[in-house]
Amino acid sequence: MKTIRRKISIVFILCSICAISLCTLFVNLTINNKFNEYMINTQNKRYERITSFLEETYKREGKWTENSGAELIHEAYMSNYCLTLFDKNKKVVWGMDPKDIINNLHFKNMSVKDEGIYSSKTFEIKVDDEIVGYVDIGQYSSVLLTEEDVNFKMSVIKSIIASGLLTLVIITIISLYFSKQLATPIKDVANMSINLSEGKFDTKSTIKSDIKELENLRKSINILAEKLKHQDIIRRRLISDISHEIRTPLNILQNNIEAMIDGVFPVTNERLNYLNEEVIRFGRLLNNLNILKEFEEESVKLNLEKISLKALIQDIYNDFNMAAGNKGIDLILKLDNKSEYNIAGDKDKLKQVFINLISNAIKFTKDGNNIWISLYYEKDKVIAEVKDNGIGIKEEDLPFIFERLYRGDKSRHEIQGNGIGLTIVRSILQFHSANIEVESKEGKGTTFRIYFDSYK
Ligand code: ADP
Repeated sequence: MKTIRRKISIVFILCSICAISLCTLFVNLTINNKFNEYMINTQNKRYERITSFLEETYKREGKWTENSGAELIHEAYMSNYCLTLFDKNKKVVWGMDPKDIINNLHFKNMSVKDEGIYSSKTFEIKVDDEIVGYVDIGQYSSVLLTEEDVNFKMSVIKSIIASGLLTLVIITIISLYFSKQLATPIKDVANMSINLSEGKFDTKSTIKSDIKELENLRKSINILAEKLKHQDIIRRRLISDISHEIRTPLNILQNNIEAMIDGVFPVTNERLNYLNEEVIRFGRLLNNLNILKEFEEESVKLNLEKISLKALIQDIYNDFNMAAGNKGIDLILKLDNKSEYNIAGDKDKLKQVFINLISNAIKFTKDGNNIWISLYYEKDKVIAEVKDNGIGIKEEDLPFIFERLYRGDKSRHEIQGNGIGLTIVRSILQFHSANIEVESKEGKGTTFRIYFDSYK
């Protein structure tokens, strides 16, 4: 198999060779035609010059002698054409022998067309509209070329070929450079995808390209790697979290029951209640997992209707106000009395969302702190906000808090929970096409903001 760089270079160079050859051919043909045209013109002018020279000679001398116009012979000889002067009765006055031209050095050196076929043309010599003689001009080529003409033509052809070759060299260099530019980022992305397929998610494609599509490809594969890495971390954590969540209550139960069987612990009501709480906690975990499964299998049926978020939040506020108060937390409700904040939704499911958010806020907020619940409009969105100034979430935990069974390190040790509440929140909101975002600073507090479409 060929590398992309090699393939691009070969295609590039082949195309260039074709283009340059065609160009050279056309330029050559055009120059040849134009050159021949120019030579035929020159030749016709020569014919005119010779006849008018002889006409002038006749006018001056009044008759033909052997020397009339003989000075033309030398030029004719040097330029490879043959002259014969006739009087008006077509009797030869003087003439050159065509064979002399064949032996002429000038002719042999030249590459002339139709070499060897002698042809001639006869022109009338007129003085005062009366024919006084004829001149026959003959040559071994249809177009006569001098040595300079041929040299000129050859140098033009050579320049064309040289420029063609030079262009080819330049194009080859450019194509090698360009194919490298194209191939290197592709190779990098290809290598990266191999790494990803081998489970090495820590790789990154760093070779930037100024080609839009390649740059997009590079960016998307980097995003893909990030996502796969993220998923991988979640998967690993999920396994350890599940076993932890299940093992803890089971261990407690097992140890306590064994101790009771062995008579180490007396079987008291208090101990049985404690163990029962663990069983209930375990059952809650399974219940939550079950709810989550339903959402993830998309088997839940939503009962969508027009609901007033204001009324819903008001109800939940009343339910939680006491629990918050008992913990020394001030639960503050901020609502605009005029608006109902109507949305389309499933009342029970949305209730679950706010129960989870507010109970988390209470769980993760210390005595003497506050929790604010507010509703407001932003453009055509209804925004519900649950804000606390509690313990906050660590920056490294933030991207994961909506994942199944994910619990912040602090909460794991100090506060009860099973890491499913927010996953359920996110699933319910997805069914309502609502977005949830979280802002949090460790030690400062947390804000959850939900964006609902307002009811139209
Ligand atoms: P759980 O509360 O059962 O641990 P959740 O899915 O409800 O599980 O929450 C996941 C994690 O997000 C929690 O363990 C905690 O670390 C963090 N979290 C959620 N809400 C808050 C909050 N209001 N303040 C601080 N941390 C929070």
